[in-house]
Amino acid sequence: AQHSNFVSRKNSMGVNFSNDNELKAMADTVNANAGPWTAGPLVPGATANGPTVQVTNPADRRQTVGSYVSADSAIVDKALANAVAAQPGWDRLPAASRAAILEHAAELLETRRGEFIALCVREAGKSLPDAIAEIREAADFLRYYATMARRLFGQPEQLPGPTGESNQLFLNGRGVFVCISPWNFPLAIFLGQVSAALAAGNSVIAKPAEQTSLIGHAAVKLLHEAGVPVDVLQYLPGDGATVGAALTKDPRVSGVAFTGSTETAWAINRALAARNAPIAALIAETGGQNAMIADSSALPEQIVKDVIASAFQSAGQRCSAARVLFVQEDIADKVTAMLAGAMGELKVGDPGQLSTDVGPVIDEDARRILVDHAARMDTEAKKIGGVALDPATTAHGTFFAPCAYEIGSLATLTREVFGPVLHIIRWKGSELAQVVEQINATGYGLTLGVHSRINDTVDYISSHARVGNCYVNRNQIGAVVGVQPFGGENLSGTGPKAGGPHYLLRFAGERTLTINT
Ligand code: GLU
Repeated sequence: AQHSNFVSRKNSMGVNFSNDNELKAMADTVNANAGPWTAGPLVPGATANGPTVQVTNPADRRQTVGSYVSADSAIVDKALANAVAAQPGWDRLPAASRAAILEHAAELLETRRGEFIALCVREAGKSLPDAIAEIREAADFLRYYATMARRLFGQPEQLPGPTGESNQLFLNGRGVFVCISPWNFPLAIFLGQVSAALAAGNSVIAKPAEQTSLIGHAAVKLLHEAGVPVDVLQYLPGDGATVGAALTKDPRVSGVAFTGSTETAWAINRALAARNAPIAALIAETGGQNAMIADSSALPEQIVKDVIASAFQSAGQRCSAARVLFVQEDIADKVTAMLAGAMGELKVGDPGQLSTDVGPVIDEDARRILVDHAARMDTEAKKIGGVALDPATTAHGTFFAPCAYEIGSLATLTREVFGPVLHIIRWKGSELAQVVEQINATGYGLTLGVHSRINDTVDYISSHARVGNCYVNRNQIGAVVGVQPFGGENLSGTGPKAGGPHYLLRFAGERTLTINT
């Protein structure tokens, strides 16, 4: 049964891509909002003294997007003290009041989406369609967790008991939550983590990825404007090694929500475990080695379309992206030839142009790792397809041309390659079990794509693959909030799934109240 204060929720509408006027308005918005943006810690009662960092545009490193002042250790300490003091009052508010503030933030975000789209394009190098999708997903998270807060936290669960005894189960915030978010979804995942922690009654210290500090700052200001008190949500930009490490070793922290590499999740887990403090909750969303399995019953045209989206959209910088295509040998020549042709049509360049398919990668470090990996593949593997970069549009940015290689086995890939590089492995029809076993043996378990029109094959794969999100006969990216709860298992994450009905529970504590009446 739904509670009386349950409000039905609709996902954000975004932009109509068949309406030229609406699309042109989106492109114009990027031109109109050129910054420069400035940011710094948002901590009541303190001013930061850390170094100032210049932010440049990944598509053209000569362009300054803005700058931010980093947090120093004194401000980290003050932020934690504020967060501890502010949390009980926030937790005591009715869940519906917290939810209403998050819903107001979603409205504000949609009304002001122009500036946020421009920031996503300029600071994160997002293509226009990806930037628009980012705003939608962020608004969806705000509304989804608001709805869930009303449903789960709105009133205690009444439990049975003997006559004369009342039993009630209450959910409450755990305390101070630290949210450490990634640069690849600088608004959606940032606001997703923060809004979940707030919805559940926690105070929050938000630490954005260094590469996307300006977007994080704008998102926190938006939540303040919507009504989140400034000491309940504080913002601390800076690098992980100093700011992140200072936060996660502090005994005042009750939980951490983290999205990023598996290695960093291990480091956070160790830091939390080393404290003489209540055992903290850790929600980690980490890496993947995502595969797509295509058999010879599948339609090559559809495989190619979905591989192009899964491997190369967002310049492959999604943790859900397809890294390895297992294609059954009967159709492998056809699929690889078609794939090479389709890759040749991809336009790499200015992410602010509607005609661009693939924008830059996030920074020079990311590009260097991809260049080194491709150099290794050039000697060890067979190149299937590539894209020529036009120096006129890419010379000054951190661009990397999408490419694809045929390799012998998954063991060749020792780590996740976070960018637009696809690996292809042929398999024989009799080897399905071994293919699934190889994928499970990576230890990761985030997304898996399946292309097959044989029900037994689909059933076998979906029941034997240890992955969090399995997509059949479609692409394997772009999980929709409340529709495809997202998150992996094993080395890919702790769960519970973002945008799913159980996410808020990990941010909560439980209290049972028994009264002898
Ligand atoms: N939720 C995103 C998707 O489904 C991926 C999130 C991530 O890259 O961390 O594509």
